[in-house]
Amino acid sequence: MKIVHYPHPALRHPAKLVTNIDKPLRLLVGRMLELMQEKKGLGLAGPQVAMPFQVFVMQMRSEDDQPQPPRVYINPVVIDRKGSVEGEEGCLSFPGLYQKVRRAKQVRVQAFDEQGEKIDRVVNDLEARVVIHEIDHLHGILFIDKFGLISKLSARSALAEFERDYRRARDRGEIPPDKEIERQLRELEEKGPPLLEEPPPQVPVM
Ligand SMILES: [Zn+2]
Repeated sequence: MKIVHYPHPALRHPAKLVTNIDKPLRLLVGRMLELMQEKKGLGLAGPQVAMPFQVFVMQMRSEDDQPQPPRVYINPVVIDRKGSVEGEEGCLSFPGLYQKVRRAKQVRVQAFDEQGEKIDRVVNDLEARVVIHEIDHLHGILFIDKFGLISKLSARSALAEFERDYRRARDRGEIPPDKEIERQLRELEEKGPPLLEEPPPQVPVM
């Protein structure tokens, strides 16, 4: 499993509601957290690893740059939003691209965690930005869709480069054709998350 980059079709494929919070889903969530931490992202959504399920993980850092506990959101819904603020934003599916995006300053979000417990939280500022960005991913919406005119213009050549790199990788056979990816996504939707390998036990090595 790896992070897919724009314009991979999985990023535009709306994710399916999670119906079972079971072992395959928990293993998927664990692997997503690992990948997010490895790439130093604040959040990562199912479609970004070509898993079409309504789940995302995130991890904020405190003001003195200490990692906060990771959080898992399953079937998240924004039920209230307040204010509006512009801020710099990036995305693990667009490495190196940062642009200003206007987002709500505060959102109230309801979801389930990986234990099936209900979450009902009000989040602000950067954390709200991450939550909205990740929920957008679950509906096939990308941060480039939220760019204002100036961001759109300044990102144009970077996007063309992502598209060219993607086509080249596909021509080299490193990425399957779009139709095959769509078929794989539909199959995943039917069968649910695959049972990923268990992570190795954390044994202290001396
Ligand atoms: Zn993103």
